[in-house]
Amino acid sequence: MPGRRRSRRARIADHALLRGAAEVARTLEPEGLVVGTVGNVSVRTGPTVHVTPTRTGYAAMCARDLVMVDVASGVVLGAGTPSRELPLHLAVYRARPDVGCVLHTHSVAATAWSFLDEPLQPELEDLAYHGIAPVRTSPHADAGTEALATAAATTLGPDTAVLLGRHGVLTVGATPADALLAARVVERQARVAWLVRGAAPWATGVASAVLDDVAGSSTG
Ligand SMILES: [Zn+2]
Repeated sequence: MPGRRRSRRARIADHALLRGAAEVARTLEPEGLVVGTVGNVSVRTGPTVHVTPTRTGYAAMCARDLVMVDVASGVVLGAGTPSRELPLHLAVYRARPDVGCVLHTHSVAATAWSFLDEPLQPELEDLAYHGIAPVRTSPHADAGTEALATAAATTLGPDTAVLLGRHGVLTVGATPADALLAARVVERQARVAWLVRGAAPWATGVASAVLDDVAGSSTG
């Protein structure tokens, strides 16, 4: 049984991670990073991941509500039904041994930028300061699919954040607080990027004709 041989100190640290993930989940809607039960968060403890359950309100989310899943096999080990984006979380954990938390949101400005199929730019000092840049956009794939999981993990590479094409945002961190900070910074960066793009499309070296093409292709 995964986790059985973890030390007492490790188990205390694990519980702190779970509490942190639940706290982040409770933060998502009040901060406007999601509406309703979309989005999801998970933390890794040893060989297992604990992910928010599907279609469950975040307002009263507790550590015990998280659904335990074996990272290697994807088998659900505990009670509950995990988020349908479980494959997305597992793909990142399998590719990134350094990651302890995965956070997926639909924050407005960053999600809108994900329709442009281009990196989030210009890169502000905020991204560099927090070690988040670059923020690339993964190819579009349907929500909840292995295709989305593969595209996201591949595009993320060694980075801290990735925009999911025509969908939303994924950030990672060693802890839930790290992943939440990255989500906040990316959303703030995206708001600035849209203001710059709206006021001066040429400022980022993107011609108006390209923007017109993007506008035409992003309505489907
Ligand atoms: Zn989503």
